[in-house]
Amino acid sequence: MTLSVLDIIEGTSVDGPGLRTAIYFSGCNHHCEGCHNRKSWDIEAGKQVSIDDIMKIVAYNDFNVTFSGGDPFFPAR
Ligand code: SF4
Repeated sequence: MTLSVLDIIEGTSVDGPGLRTAIYFSGCNHHCEGCHNRKSWDIEAGKQVSIDDIMKIVAYNDFNVTFSGGDPFFPAR
């Protein structure tokens, strides 16, 4: 299974407490008025990454994790 990933930031300190791996998914139908990441709305803006590869990055860094978007629960293809 793959998910559409816009970006993965390793070692960010601005997406929650402490150092984190932040995963930005693409695809969002909510279209919130104040969205700060509108480029994430288009699922085609990201690249398909397997859950295994995402988890390898998460495990390698051993940080806390932030799932962001887009909508992390946007239906996978
Ligand atoms: S990415 Fe987040 S803030 Fe932006 S429209 Fe989607 S749910 Fe709303």
